[in-house]
Amino acid sequence: MAIRLYNTLTRSKDEFRPIDPNNVRMYVCGPTVYDDAHIGNARPIIVFDLLYRLLRHEYGADHVTYARNITDLDDKINKRAHERGVTIQELTEGTTARFHAAIDALGALRPTVEPRATHHIEEMKVLCEKLVASGHAYVAEDHVLFSVPSMPAYGKLSKRPLDDMIAGARVDVAPYKRSEMDFVLWKPSTEAHEPGWPSPCGIAQPGRPGWHIECSAMSAAHLGETFDIHAGGLDLIFPHHENEIAQSRSAFGHAIMAKYWMHNGFLNISGEKMSKSLGNFFTVHELLDQYPGEAIRLLLLSAHYRQPLDFTHEGLTQAKATLDRWYGALRGKELKSVPVPASVEEALADDLNTPQAISAVHQLRDPSELKAGAGALGLLQQDAEAWFRWMPAAAASGPSDAEIEAAIAARQAARKARDFKESDRIRDDLKAKGVILEDGPKGTTWKRG
Ligand SMILES: [Zn+2]
Repeated sequence: MAIRLYNTLTRSKDEFRPIDPNNVRMYVCGPTVYDDAHIGNARPIIVFDLLYRLLRHEYGADHVTYARNITDLDDKINKRAHERGVTIQELTEGTTARFHAAIDALGALRPTVEPRATHHIEEMKVLCEKLVASGHAYVAEDHVLFSVPSMPAYGKLSKRPLDDMIAGARVDVAPYKRSEMDFVLWKPSTEAHEPGWPSPCGIAQPGRPGWHIECSAMSAAHLGETFDIHAGGLDLIFPHHENEIAQSRSAFGHAIMAKYWMHNGFLNISGEKMSKSLGNFFTVHELLDQYPGEAIRLLLLSAHYRQPLDFTHEGLTQAKATLDRWYGALRGKELKSVPVPASVEEALADDLNTPQAISAVHQLRDPSELKAGAGALGLLQQDAEAWFRWMPAAAASGPSDAEIEAAIAARQAARKARDFKESDRIRDDLKAKGVILEDGPKGTTWKRG
């Protein structure tokens, strides 16, 4: 089945034609591991996991190479490690393990390769040398800078007006830049807590790479100088992806870096931008304490990936109810291995139209087809019985049955004594622990919410 993908480079939905169908290659900019992944970070992981699954389905699991890097080199990482009094390696090993645990729970397949920036410093230095030798970069005050005017095609991906790009570049004004838009490929490490490596291009001061050069080096090392798909969040189009293209095309001399550039839209929380100051900031781990990973995955896929996604607790509750229904339909059934229903496959092949694919899954009546259809979205991956054993961590670690009964008895006594303030307090306290009380003619019953 022909796959069509929206390509940011052409601003159109193009038929996907891989450079080599025997080895379809995709690169996704991975996380900067300085802290736990928040739910906004999870969106590209899940969207492009779905793309990876679709490509494996169409071209064969052994014919797709997926590289997603780990940025373990960043000023935020240096700062965090310094504050906590641990080494950068100790910090990033811990955060990487937690990142894996979080996205495994959302059903993301591991990529074929997961290169770490700190393991590719040599390749980044070689790129710096190449770019300086060919006149696309220069050395100034112990920095290596990319010369944007050396690349006439600069701006082709983001299609930003020149003034806009200059204004964007102004946040980082430095006297040693020849042109305002030039960006850093390598910078000196001068503080004790900053990691440093011997510098390229004859610079005596030890230094470290800038962020953009990482992805040019790692994609070339694992996928080749040109490859099929490069993806990430919308916020990466400029400057990150624009700069990656400038570096890779100038260093390797090809007309493209990647053929297709894909970008997912932003994630909002209940209609607002997620931010720590608004108190609507959720890490994946926090959500996994309250909802099954598959419900989070289903909600992340409920909007088309290029559209903004509104992430709400009601949405999660609904997603959980949908999965309860689907798993309920599989319960106790003998399931046959059947192909992915065409209605689901067609929707996914049309630029990952997940809302349509999900509605197609809703139409499937045969349990085997339901499992195959939802399976194409990475859902219904567990045993139905296991699904119904799921319980939120909050409830699992909440009060025992005996504790609940004792609290109910204390509430009854308070009501008898007409101390309604105390009886309400006990009821609210249990509610906060996930236990709902219902007063009926035969007394008080309870359930875990
Ligand atoms: Zn990148």
